[in-house]
Amino acid sequence: MMETLNLLLFAIEAVGYFALMVTLLHFRHRLGLGMFLTALGVMHFMETYLAAVFYVPVPFGIVSPGSSVFFAGKLMMILMLYLHEDAAVVRQPIYGLFLGNLLTAAIAWLLQWHSIIEISAGKAPNFDFLNEMGGLMMWGTALLYLDSIGIILLYERLGRVFKRKIVLRFMICGFVMLTFDQVGFFGALYYFVGVPAAAFWGGWKAKMFAVCIYTVLFAIYERWIRRGVSTMSARPVGDIFHDLTFRERYNDLLSRTGRDVLTGLYDRARMEIEAPTMIWDSLKQGQCATVLILDVDHFKDVNDQFGHLQGDEVLKAIAARLGTILRASDRMFRFGGEEFVAVCPVTDHAEGARLAERLRWTIANSVSTPDGRPVTVSIGLASADEDGVSFTTVLSVADERLYQAKKNGRNCVIGGSRLAEVG
Ligand code: GH3
Ligand code: MG
Ligand code: MG
Repeated sequence: MMETLNLLLFAIEAVGYFALMVTLLHFRHRLGLGMFLTALGVMHFMETYLAAVFYVPVPFGIVSPGSSVFFAGKLMMILMLYLHEDAAVVRQPIYGLFLGNLLTAAIAWLLQWHSIIEISAGKAPNFDFLNEMGGLMMWGTALLYLDSIGIILLYERLGRVFKRKIVLRFMICGFVMLTFDQVGFFGALYYFVGVPAAAFWGGWKAKMFAVCIYTVLFAIYERWIRRGVSTMSARPVGDIFHDLTFRERYNDLLSRTGRDVLTGLYDRARMEIEAPTMIWDSLKQGQCATVLILDVDHFKDVNDQFGHLQGDEVLKAIAARLGTILRASDRMFRFGGEEFVAVCPVTDHAEGARLAERLRWTIANSVSTPDGRPVTVSIGLASADEDGVSFTTVLSVADERLYQAKKNGRNCVIGGSRLAEVG
């Protein structure tokens, strides 16, 4: 009875953890990726603490939610982050966790040299425990580093065998890496904290159980929420390894992480690398994709009147607004000076036109010049495959329509002739 309740709580913890973290991941373009990453990092100390002292009996053995739910969950989140972004992004939390944990252990060690006073009886810090935690953190950190890199490389390797079966790959990766982790981490628990050997199998089964829960949730998320936006990487595993370990050439990194410094959007170089694949992936799935090009109206006047620095502020405000409207699967790039390109996979022309209209309306109603006059944008849009199948062709059709939008008096959206003019 008690064991069943523990198991139920265990499942609730796993579902709760996954739901919150995936929500932050899903909305990272609106919330900023920092929110997801911080939440991921903040949990680490508690995981380690729970793994050291918090054990509960469940029907298949003795388990700690710290390592079985939260540590396992974190590893799966690192894999999911990789699936949504790329190696250059996922290595940030991998190294951040690594360095943050080393710092925690170093500080725990340093603290013990203080001469301290007890502010209330029986509330003295437990330095033996802090030191144990320090050892565990170091070891857990080293393992997490190997687990994280391992899970991504394994995922890519499995892609050769099960190309389209991402859920299966996710599950196998979880089983394999957490088995590896259990052997490694349990060894340390046994050595540092004296956790009994019986907890090894319980912990292993619990991790496998947690992987099953995460896999089901992952499948639901991919199938019904993210709806199969491509998670395929065509890059060789060796390249990914080099990215993960910061070993790629500097210029290569710049071209792939390419953010525009002013607006924080991806830059044109990145667009040229990513946009064609995004279009191609949609077409391969038998879906349309839509490209929007936006140009700020009379922007030269803003610069002339208020100076370039104020002009830059307006551009930043526009970029920030655009980011709040786009969906997770859309990508916005800064194409040139005051021109932006949005690539929307799995989006037909009518849906793209609605999105464009929303962007136009939002900018016109929320961005203004320093003297309070509204700033507006004109938008042209075109879709694959009705306007062409290559990104370059679609973009040039969209660009012609942008030109028409300017001729039509600006602050409007122009799409294909089938669409009534919107806005
Ligand atoms: P319209 O597009 O409505 O025809 O008029 P416009 O005045 O916006 O014309 P155009 O698109 O040709 O002008 C773009 C201006 O944007 C010219 C340039 O000074 C300015 N610009 C380009 N990049 C930047 C930038 O990074 N910062 C600032 N402040 N201005 C920029
Ligand atoms: Mg322009
Ligand atoms: Mg302009």
